[in-house]
Amino acid sequence: METEVLLVGAGPVGLLLAAELRLAGVRPTVIERLAQPTREQKARGMGSLATEALRRRGLGAQLAAHHERGFADFRAAHGSDKGHFAWLHKIDLVPADEPERTYTFIWQPELEQLLGRWLAELGVPVLREHELTALRQDPDSVTATVHTPTGRCQVTAGYLVGCDGGRSPVRKLAGFEFPGTEPFMIMRAAQVELADPDAVPPPGQRDTGSLMHSLDGSGVGILGTTEFSAIPEDRGGPLTPEELAASVRRVAGVDVAITAIREPRRVLDHARQAERYQLGRVLLAGDAAHVHSPNGGQGLNLGLMDAVNLGWKLAASVRRGDDGPLGTYTAERHPVAAAVLHNTRAQSALLSPGPHHQALRDIVSELMDIPAVNAYLAELLNGPHTRYRLPYNKPADHDLVGQHCPDLVFGADRLYQHTAEGDPVLLTPTHAPEVAQAAAPWASRVQLVPAGLARHDLSGVLLRPDGVVAWACGPDHPPDLEQLGHAMRTWFAAPGAPDSPDSPDDPDCPDGR
Ligand SMILES: Cc1cc2nc3c(=O)[nH]c(=O)nc-3n(C[C@H](O)[C@H](O)[C@H](O)COP(=O)(O)OP(=O)(O)OC[C@H]3O[C@@H](n4cnc5c(N)ncnc54)[C@H](O)[C@@H]3O)c2cc1C
Repeated sequence: METEVLLVGAGPVGLLLAAELRLAGVRPTVIERLAQPTREQKARGMGSLATEALRRRGLGAQLAAHHERGFADFRAAHGSDKGHFAWLHKIDLVPADEPERTYTFIWQPELEQLLGRWLAELGVPVLREHELTALRQDPDSVTATVHTPTGRCQVTAGYLVGCDGGRSPVRKLAGFEFPGTEPFMIMRAAQVELADPDAVPPPGQRDTGSLMHSLDGSGVGILGTTEFSAIPEDRGGPLTPEELAASVRRVAGVDVAITAIREPRRVLDHARQAERYQLGRVLLAGDAAHVHSPNGGQGLNLGLMDAVNLGWKLAASVRRGDDGPLGTYTAERHPVAAAVLHNTRAQSALLSPGPHHQALRDIVSELMDIPAVNAYLAELLNGPHTRYRLPYNKPADHDLVGQHCPDLVFGADRLYQHTAEGDPVLLTPTHAPEVAQAAAPWASRVQLVPAGLARHDLSGVLLRPDGVVAWACGPDHPPDLEQLGHAMRTWFAAPGAPDSPDSPDDPDCPDGR
């Protein structure tokens, strides 16, 4: 079997990346080892950048339909509608001056369902029960060995992307370095039934860790612990009732009799990141590229934004042989994940038991009442103003250049009404016709949309397919047309560079389906 791009893993990142590639004219093949999507409720939502990325593709109404229930679940679970840093629930999730830059609360399985339906509409199949077990690459291609229900086969691809989660076989097989810090904290939790619910003391922090539970009168509910020692060397098997009971004993000093256990889970706070996200023709995205504790709920947002950043760049390599945009993938995304790892390590430290850490935690909690600190932490967790350094940046560039653009309104029209197909967009100012003239040679690749923007600081914007502002101008200065040309050539090649035709129809599936 041959395919232009082989995506390994149909988690949220693989699904979104496949859709982005398809919109950009590539027909990827997605393989997934599981027979069915998992119903495991990991992430319960995503931040404003991933929300905007999906709204740009016309999925806003579907997200909104889930948000209310997801937010109610979040409020019920945390007793607060504020975001948290190290479980200090004080963070205002939406910037006061940009109320449209909202989170979406949606359980991960529901998000995967939504992305899966979209992918099916785009005609991209997901081959389930297909597990990658080996790979090798040469200068022109990558060959993967895939185990399927009907036997083993070889798949040759122009590129292969590991979207295969934190334990990423692709990362290991391709030889990516994955440096970082060992786990410092371990959380164990499960749905349990207890024979003696009265034996369990109230939840809360102790000198040895913390105990959490939401048990009803008959002893049914969630029971969990967080500890900062006793991290088992052997974590291959699932969490057992005995391991959970021993942890409760260490933390709370009581013996509990667990008679039934469901959805047992250990969560550790390794913080590791691939040194680079591309080795030859193999790339990484999502948890495959970075792992960290779930504190602050940042992993899904981070991984989805990898997919959004990578999709159109990889497509430029596949369709035009233009590797320039792809060469910026690691440079743009690595620092964003490094900052997330950094803040999750700080959260682990703040969660540690003992009087010294508690004193620090008290002070951080007081600082969070200062609006500027609150906004700083909100930006740290959610990053709506994440700014990439672009290859042609100069100090005089508009403030928005390198940042993700929120939806913009002009008359009865909006920016995001022009982005569903994944094309780059240039909003051309009505007062400066020279912008549209300068961009005309790229008109087959970039949508030119005349827009009278009603903003005092912005009159024209060039938007990359991932929503990043590549160039902008304001009403009070003449537009920098030379800089516009740099931006166009950097991201969308010289005018007239040929694109390969849209890829042929779906390749044959390995097992003939
Ligand atoms: C308990 C918990 C709570 C969390 N809470 C949050 C939260 O509140 N907010 C948040 O943003 N994030 C949270 N996260 C993190 C979030 O769930 C992940 O960041 C997200 O799942 C990453 O998506 P992914 O597509 O990169 O990887 P995954 O979702 O792990 O998907 C990888 C896929 O690859 C497949 N695969 C693996 N190996 C192979 C192979 N060899 N061949 C074929 N397929 C393969 C797997 O079966 C899987 O389907 C949480 C995580 C956990 C564990």
